[in-house]
Amino acid sequence: MNPKLTFWVPAALRLAILMVVAGLCWWISGPVAGLSVAVLLLIAQLYIQLSYLSQLSAWLDDFNSAKLPDGWGAWTDVFSRLYRLRRDDERSQAELTEWLARFRQAMHLLPDGVAIMDDVLFLEWCNPAAERHLGLTLERDKGMRVTNLVRHPDFIDYIVLGRYEQPLTLSLRDRKLIVQVIPFENRRQILVTHDATESVRIEEMRRDFIANASHELRTPLTVIVGFLEIASSTPDLDSASRQAHLKLMTEQGRRMQRLIEDMLTLSRLESVDYPLRPEPVDVGAVIEEVLEEARALSGGRHEVTATIDGPDIVGSAEELRSAFGNLASNAVRYTPEGGKVHLAWKQGADGPQFTVSDTGIGIDQVHIARLTERFYRVDKSRSRETQGTGLGLAIVKHVLLRHHATLSITSKPGEGSCFTVTFPKR
Ligand code: ADP
Repeated sequence: MNPKLTFWVPAALRLAILMVVAGLCWWISGPVAGLSVAVLLLIAQLYIQLSYLSQLSAWLDDFNSAKLPDGWGAWTDVFSRLYRLRRDDERSQAELTEWLARFRQAMHLLPDGVAIMDDVLFLEWCNPAAERHLGLTLERDKGMRVTNLVRHPDFIDYIVLGRYEQPLTLSLRDRKLIVQVIPFENRRQILVTHDATESVRIEEMRRDFIANASHELRTPLTVIVGFLEIASSTPDLDSASRQAHLKLMTEQGRRMQRLIEDMLTLSRLESVDYPLRPEPVDVGAVIEEVLEEARALSGGRHEVTATIDGPDIVGSAEELRSAFGNLASNAVRYTPEGGKVHLAWKQGADGPQFTVSDTGIGIDQVHIARLTERFYRVDKSRSRETQGTGLGLAIVKHVLLRHHATLSITSKPGEGSCFTVTFPKR
């Protein structure tokens, strides 16, 4: 029904009843009684209205606590509508609180930093990632100017110039951050920070790898091209020189071949398309093969021995042969003639262990942490002399990663080295 009618119809009815009652009194007891009854009934009516009004006023003062009365007449409709309004308000407030809690949780978990600033760059709010990235503490720094909190000249320039279309790459607190300001709501700005340390590091590694690999390939290629030029410009070269040149060219060609093979092995080991296919591995048989190869490489110049007393494991025999082979060949290559190389396979306290120890040139402590980096060499010329590609220990590292094994290195310059591979306990 029309709300106006629901209000006026009952009011008119009540007034009509009141007048009928007063009229009846007039008719039965005369005009004085009729008027008195009419006045009394009007006063009662006024009292009821005022009492509801006072209850409404009390409820408006504290509409959360006081319960709304049921009301009478038109008040029933007023109170029920107010009640509905309050319920809707409570519901939307609960929804808002829930949404805010969800938003806070999402912001808390977000790996990227988000900080909200006002138009004059005073910090209003930020999430924990922004605190971490920019070295802020919301509680302490709220209300402070962001350029006073992040005092990096590049950051200040970026904010002062206001060229926010492009993000800024910032080196801050040993991390590489990508920072961007996004204006919103006319008077506010969001500062977004992304930690790009890892991707920058990977990009640098990729660039270094390409530069190193090109350099490594260029050297033997230069030698080969040099000899080919001599051969073509000197048709009457004596056969001894020709033989010597051919020998050197073959050596350089083989070096390039080894390098490319090692690079392909590394890229295969890193590729997600080439997962480990675990199989039971007879480690004793693998070590026997590695021992034979090491003896062949030594050519009788070293005493190469092995003790095999460990269990079989699950993994890739081919990859383990390559990793163990690299360690054994390093031991032979970096041990002067007359030295000893020993391979051992045993059950250690932390799991099965493969050890290669030698009495070679040893490695200074400063180099040990970096040995498994690609193309890292303690002594470049010695590595080349011993036909090293600089990728052997990087291959070892990747094979071990795929087998959840660890590598530990102990060494003393002039005394020898010990490389220990520990596999997880079964
Ligand atoms: P390379 O092909 O040059 O031998 P690796 O990755 O196998 O490359 O080894 C990295 C470097 O670690 C070597 O250049 C060498 O300086 C050092 N190295 C590795 N094994 C030994 C060892 N057994 N004794 C001394 N130095 C070693």
